Amino acid sequence: MITAKLRPMHHDTSSPSKLKANKALGQHFLKDKHAVEKIVTALPMHARAIEIGPGPGAITESLLQRAQTLTVIEKDYRFASLWSERAKELSHLHIVHGNVLEVLNDTVKQYQPEWITGNLPYNISGPLTAQLTSHNLLGGMVLMYQREVGNRIMADPGSKTYGGLSVLARHHYHVKRLLLLPPGAFAPPPKVHSVVLLFTPHGNTPPCSFEILQKTVRKGFAHRRKTILNNFKGSLSAEDFIRMDINPKNRPEQLGYDAWTRISMAYSNQ
Ligand code: SAM
Repeated sequence: MITAKLRPMHHDTSSPSKLKANKALGQHFLKDKHAVEKIVTALPMHARAIEIGPGPGAITESLLQRAQTLTVIEKDYRFASLWSERAKELSHLHIVHGNVLEVLNDTVKQYQPEWITGNLPYNISGPLTAQLTSHNLLGGMVLMYQREVGNRIMADPGSKTYGGLSVLARHHYHVKRLLLLPPGAFAPPPKVHSVVLLFTPHGNTPPCSFEILQKTVRKGFAHRRKTILNNFKGSLSAEDFIRMDINPKNRPEQLGYDAWTRISMAYSNQ
């Protein structure tokens, strides 16, 4: 296990079912077998995969049957320890104990996954998705979100929920909804419905880097009610936007992915 130094164990980690859910870590454990099947079979057999937040292992156990290698990233020491014990018998299982926001990029670099999956902790799913979508994976991603965040990612220009994440997701991926799950599919049940999204790489070469696009949408969506010209005041002029074939009076949520890449290139040349 790769880890910050492990503290001595105070919990009985012999059985996952004995471990209580920690709300601060967004722990709502999936109990719907059909959902598990649908998530796991979205990955092909013998893939190199990462699972974020395995918890007690609703998805992990089935993934272990299919994957060539499975690397799990888990912040909760109790679950990281549990999976480290299992890894002693399973050479294709690797454990990274840590905060996924801090360890994701290095873990991807080290294990070169084709697929990433996980029932994501709701409290960090926005910033985590921004990081995840920066990786152009060969296979794709199967990720569970609370419905509202899933809708933001899938939203089209013109919709109220369209925003930075909707643009970033399109940089490398097509996104489609695989599943809608009611609170009762989890223990303890969350307050809201959940969705599972499938991210499939579209294979097009993006016209700008992910980092520049991210910087641009952050600035461009800073004030949703302002025009795009006002959001870039001091950096880009009305003439600049007209040259890009963009109406400077448009609001950020009216602009599609292609327009955002044109703004990114002009903004990065400042
Ligand atoms: N995969 C399990 C399931 O579907 O039943 C658990 C999913 S639960 C919604 C989220 C999991 O992510 C928990 O195991 C939690 O401990 C873990 N987690 C929460 N915050 C995390 C973080 N910042 N980094 C890594 N894991 C985290």
